[in-house]
Amino acid sequence: MNASGNVYQSRIARARELMQDEGLDMLFIGPSSDFRYFTGHPTRPSERLTALLIPIDGTPTVVVPRLEAPLVQDLEGEFELEVWGETENPISRVAERVRKVGGEAIAINDQIWAGFVIQLQHELPNRSYHRGASVLKQLRSVKDQFELDLLKEASRRTDAAWETFTSKVSVIGRTEEEVADDLKGIMADHGMPEIAFCIVASGPNGSSPHHHTGDRRIQGGDPIVMDFGGIHEGYYSDVTRTPVAGRVPDDDFTTAYNIVLEAQQAAFEKIGPGVPCQEVDRAARSVISQHGYGDYFIHRVGHGIGMTGHEDPYLVEGNEELLQPGMVVSDEPGIYIPGKWGIRIEDSVAVTEAGRERYNHVSRDITILE
Ligand code: ZN
Ligand code: ZN
Ligand code: ZN
Repeated sequence: MNASGNVYQSRIARARELMQDEGLDMLFIGPSSDFRYFTGHPTRPSERLTALLIPIDGTPTVVVPRLEAPLVQDLEGEFELEVWGETENPISRVAERVRKVGGEAIAINDQIWAGFVIQLQHELPNRSYHRGASVLKQLRSVKDQFELDLLKEASRRTDAAWETFTSKVSVIGRTEEEVADDLKGIMADHGMPEIAFCIVASGPNGSSPHHHTGDRRIQGGDPIVMDFGGIHEGYYSDVTRTPVAGRVPDDDFTTAYNIVLEAQQAAFEKIGPGVPCQEVDRAARSVISQHGYGDYFIHRVGHGIGMTGHEDPYLVEGNEELLQPGMVVSDEPGIYIPGKWGIRIEDSVAVTEAGRERYNHVSRDITILE
């Protein structure tokens, strides 16, 4: 499914308003989620350049290698297609286009390969080069309705997969990898065949927040940090639950679990329009610190989520940026006791005019897996 052309046209129009404010004449965007954001087409970085040029006015141009031109044929009309042949230098074609429309200040998205940018700087030495992030961050962090619907659906499918997983899959005596494979299969069954990541961190491995799922066999009494997400039409889900294998290990675990739960709820209730990002982190952190676990909450409380898994805005101390309706963020405090276990509980949450909306609804209580 593609959004109607209007969605992309209005994103481009909005980009131009922001370019105007920043005094930028041209946006040069490499193959990335930014490219997909403006065109609806997924692309992959490769030595053959695909790019998008958005001048401050006039028709935007898609630069594409001849062998991939058929993939973007439907963009003709809304975009000009600059098709380059196998023996040509695509950057020369980009430079030609830029010369044609004029303009001094060229903004470049963060995900384009440096090699292409340096070539362009050599071809057009008398221009100024800027990060497009100033424009793209503002655009991408505030989702339009089309994006919100896809993000919500991504979360819904992921929740459904988790429900199936917890009711069907046994974990004791099996490896983290085997369990992760089961979960990935169930995600696919629920319409999420494209897995973004799947962390299964059992027992002591759980104290490493980004543990690489491995061959450790899960034992009775292990807490298991399971952090996973998939991609639905370009939009990510990201959820974490910490079930236990067979039984709760000890009272310390239950105590810490309830603290994380309380912190997650405190951050959730803090999320709302006009709230500085760092305040959300503080809300969770103060709960955890008050209970004496402050040193064991070793990461920020959340990040933006959209066409990438981690993006602006970051809910972190020092970020005074204000939350706005349309932003979607993760709320994921944790406590990690080295050598023992970890606990993290994560939902995706949208900022709304009225406050906030949770996108994940599966139980946050301690869940016992067999
Ligand atoms: Zn993470
Ligand atoms: Zn996560
Ligand atoms: Zn996350």
